[in-house]
Amino acid sequence: MNNIANFDFKNKKTLIRVDFNVPLGENNKVTDTSRIIAAIPTIKRVISSGGIAILISHLGRPKGKKNLRYSLSNIQKDLEKLLHKSVAFIDDCIGSKVERFIYKQTAGSVILLENLRFYNQEESGDLEFAKKLSRLADVYINDAFGTAHRLHASNSVIPQFFKHKFFGLLMQDEVLNLEKTLKTPTKPFTAIIGGAKISSKIEVVLALIDKVDNLIIGGGMAFTFIKARGGAIGNSIYEEDKIDLANKIIQKAENKGVNIILPSDSINSSKFGDDGDIQISHIEKIESNYMGLDIGPESIKIFSNVIQNSKTIIWNGPMGVFEIELFSEGTRQIALSVAKATSEGAYSLVGGGDSVAAIKKFNLESSVSYISTGGGAMIEYLEGKKLPAIEAML
Ligand code: AMP
Repeated sequence: MNNIANFDFKNKKTLIRVDFNVPLGENNKVTDTSRIIAAIPTIKRVISSGGIAILISHLGRPKGKKNLRYSLSNIQKDLEKLLHKSVAFIDDCIGSKVERFIYKQTAGSVILLENLRFYNQEESGDLEFAKKLSRLADVYINDAFGTAHRLHASNSVIPQFFKHKFFGLLMQDEVLNLEKTLKTPTKPFTAIIGGAKISSKIEVVLALIDKVDNLIIGGGMAFTFIKARGGAIGNSIYEEDKIDLANKIIQKAENKGVNIILPSDSINSSKFGDDGDIQISHIEKIESNYMGLDIGPESIKIFSNVIQNSKTIIWNGPMGVFEIELFSEGTRQIALSVAKATSEGAYSLVGGGDSVAAIKKFNLESSVSYISTGGGAMIEYLEGKKLPAIEAML
């Protein structure tokens, strides 16, 4: 990867594609600044060597229309606080007004442009739109790992218009951590996959079977596997059309000598919510009116034991409906177990919106080796797919 460490940005107008797609709460306030924090080192590197940083990003899904709910002005104050510096905001991202404003800037300034997705052309990967963006600067940096799997104008089309183009420090970190995990994992290597549905994670599960020693499957997606082997799962979430696939995954794991570990017990409720009647049962003996919403104590023990004996761990997806306190214990104990293994020398990589949210909820951010800012991008990288935004830079 081209490196920004040795480049002289002095007086260079530098377009930085960042990922400021942050969650917004009431009054459009940023509720989690992690993605802004993650972009700071690259911005600082550019301005401290005398460059002019022009920041571009998307935010939410405005679908090609100007919508102030998704204006990047909503993050201006947080960015200023984190950079300890004033940031100019312009309410557009292309055109002569933006070009004139940038032209007047001096070394070390930071300019935040309006949401790229107020233009349809961003998501359609429009060449002309990418060209207009490229007119704003002399140098291009892509530091938006979270969107690296998307073929959009500002990340996958724009690089062709620049002679000087670089990956930002966050992008480098993300790729180095994923490469290290996939190419040179210290064994035993364990993947923990959870979340609601198997359908969104099939490819990654199949790809990981080629790499890992142990595959732990928890969360709602475990029930398709349990159903596939004839268990009674009551009203638990499962995907009927993926039963064959679950069998194929089990078969492939057996052929490869990979240890697939499914939950053995389950915390069940008569309702989806916190006011149902609760039971604990064997995972294959859930009563017909109940649904499994968390892994049970025996599963926690078995999963934790595998995790404690691992030297490389990847985790994507919660073990249950962790947003509801009553069903958060499985995810909490697995998070603690990953943290403990890490403190004893294992390397752990956590990614995917919900597993990261869980790690934060349990205040374990600094207890794992690396937290990826990319959910979909991380999954596609692990699947072995080429990410268009990375390919476009090579
Ligand atoms: P995903 O986006 O596929 O990683 O799924 C994350 C979601 O899965 C979270 O919102 C969890 O509440 C949900 N989830 C985890 N376990 C279960 C379960 N047993 N039943 C229903 N939903 C679940």
